[in-house]
Amino acid sequence: MLHGLRNGTKLASLVFGGSCFLCRGAAREILCEDCERELPRLAPPRCPRCALASPAGAVCGRCLAEGPRYDATVAALAYEFPADALVHALKFRGELALAPLLAQLLLRALGRSAPVDLVVPVPLSARRLRERGYNQALELARPLAAALGAPLDFAVCERVREAPPQSDLPWAERARNVRGAFRCTRALPGASVAVVDDVMTTGATLDELAGALKAAGAAHVANWVVARTLPPD
Ligand SMILES: [Zn+2]
Ligand SMILES: [Zn+2]
Repeated sequence: MLHGLRNGTKLASLVFGGSCFLCRGAAREILCEDCERELPRLAPPRCPRCALASPAGAVCGRCLAEGPRYDATVAALAYEFPADALVHALKFRGELALAPLLAQLLLRALGRSAPVDLVVPVPLSARRLRERGYNQALELARPLAAALGAPLDFAVCERVREAPPQSDLPWAERARNVRGAFRCTRALPGASVAVVDDVMTTGATLDELAGALKAAGAAHVANWVVARTLPPD
């Protein structure tokens, strides 16, 4: 099934029949021009490490205090309506044709970022992958890697443990919930790795994966996420 989904544009016109995924108005792409323009993009200045707002684009106080194991984060959108609806549809409703669009938005947010040695989607456990039938992070990583000419490697890390979904847990418990969740399958000496995911909330999952990549020898880990959850005020 996944093979037939590589060409997102073709599939999109097939599935959406020329109407915007969000407003159902006439559209040439998955979203009409108005809906695409109004997506909640993240405006600078942001902390280069976690992508939350930060004056003058300095590393934020939380990153200085907590020292996450990832080195950088780029996010395209704020995880609020309608970006949350798009991500949700990709993740839980099998709307895989949204992946190329979301990857394109992320690509634009990346700008001319430094080249990476490896693009790694956040892995699902084997059981979750069976249930869902696809890994939304891989669907995002594939067009990104292709556009950047960077090697995609979805087997370099495994999710060895899938505890309750992070979304069911209070923020404070999320770090403990993912501890030891990932394992790298080979050494990555000095590698610069881009980790792709749909949403970054507390960053606990990405921190844990960055820890596993660094333990395998990676020198630099950047998170590339479609949407960033903004903390409650
Ligand atoms: Zn629209
Ligand atoms: Zn930060």
